[in-house]
Amino acid sequence: MTHRVDVTIIGAGVVGLAVASMVAKGRREVYLLEKNEKFGQEQSSRNSEVVHAGIYYDRGSLKAKLCLEGNSLLYELCEKNGIACRKCGKIIVATNEMESRELEKLYLRGRDNGVPLQMLSGKEMRQLEPNLKGTAAFFSPTTGIVDSYALMNYFLARAGENGVQVVYKTEVNGIKKQPDGYQISVNDASGDFSFMTKVLINCAGLHSDKVAEMTGIDLEEAGYHLHWCKGEYYSVSGGKNKLLNRLIYPVPTDISVGVHVCFDVDWRLRLGPHFYYVDEISYKVDDSGKYAFLESSMMKALPFIEPSDLAPETSGILAMLQGSGEGQRDFVIEHEYKRGLPGFVNLVGIESPGLTSSPAIAGHVSRLVDEILGS
Ligand SMILES: Cc1cc2nc3c(=O)[nH]c(=O)nc-3n(C[C@H](O)[C@H](O)[C@H](O)COP(=O)(O)OP(=O)(O)OC[C@H]3O[C@@H](n4cnc5c(N)ncnc54)[C@H](O)[C@@H]3O)c2cc1C
Repeated sequence: MTHRVDVTIIGAGVVGLAVASMVAKGRREVYLLEKNEKFGQEQSSRNSEVVHAGIYYDRGSLKAKLCLEGNSLLYELCEKNGIACRKCGKIIVATNEMESRELEKLYLRGRDNGVPLQMLSGKEMRQLEPNLKGTAAFFSPTTGIVDSYALMNYFLARAGENGVQVVYKTEVNGIKKQPDGYQISVNDASGDFSFMTKVLINCAGLHSDKVAEMTGIDLEEAGYHLHWCKGEYYSVSGGKNKLLNRLIYPVPTDISVGVHVCFDVDWRLRLGPHFYYVDEISYKVDDSGKYAFLESSMMKALPFIEPSDLAPETSGILAMLQGSGEGQRDFVIEHEYKRGLPGFVNLVGIESPGLTSSPAIAGHVSRLVDEILGS
């Protein structure tokens, strides 16, 4: 007889784990399926670990709403549960007159989204960061850093306490709609098998478009086709981390927030990510991208960083809905009943600020699941 569960979540990144920690509630049978050997091996462990404030996103978008909500939920849960996190704040700095005009627009957008921000005079900027150079700047006190591994571990433990079964090395390779749910086909070390689920939640990150397609959704028609965008980081040596007190960001570019100062919770300094679109997943980083760092606004804002301080470090790949030269797209978080797929909760394009938003996304998805299962 086919095994039946209440909820199946595909993907154990920070979003799948956060969702798993909330949907089971100790009374539902929930599977969390992950194709890799461990949780968080893709976007969730290859990012800047920044707790974003909500500045960059279009007003009223899910990104703006869930980032702001996630920002306060994240600080609260880190404090309560001993997860390493620092509300260090960040300065966004312009290095020429054109950037200064863009900075002003960004400041207004952030304020419009309800983010606390403070425009800085030259004197105030120097007081906060004596080694920073710029033509204009503003301060975001609610931006910070979180230990993303510790955060995922916390969500995993909560999911376990609520009875979620986390199954690794198990790739979903087929989804068939049935009158009472979905038949899920998976492949693991022992071969192929299938089971039934009433609710299916797609948290498959870089592969979430392919998972959506397995349900029969036409990706082009739905606008769910993902583009992969690789971000490279360079480490900064020579004790330069001691010359800064908070995160420093440039005025954003068209595809990203721009090469910026990243600190981890131990105050290790990196610059990045430098983003470009790719067709395959390879995390290799070499010296060939160094020119992009040397020419970035950050090098003008931080003249104490010498080219010889920079060395290739890591990279991550983002699941972006927008292709090269296209405008910002919002997160897709949809109960797909309008496409004839009741019980299928689809998350596509959960790029930045997905880490920050994860607890808020989990709350949002959990409410959708309660509506579907009627509790
Ligand atoms: C370079 C970079 C910098 C970033 N910086 C920040 C930042 O500073 N702050 C911030 O808030 N956000 C940031 N982000 C975004 C953030 O990392 C992501 O939004 C978040 O990690 C998405 O989590 P996820 O769980 O949706 O995806 P993922 O972490 O990619 O997890 C998806 C999981 O699904 C699994 N999976 C896929 N297909 C299948 C299948 N068929 N069967 C079983 N399992 C499957 C994968 O193996 C993977 O483990 C950044 C991202 C990148 C790449």
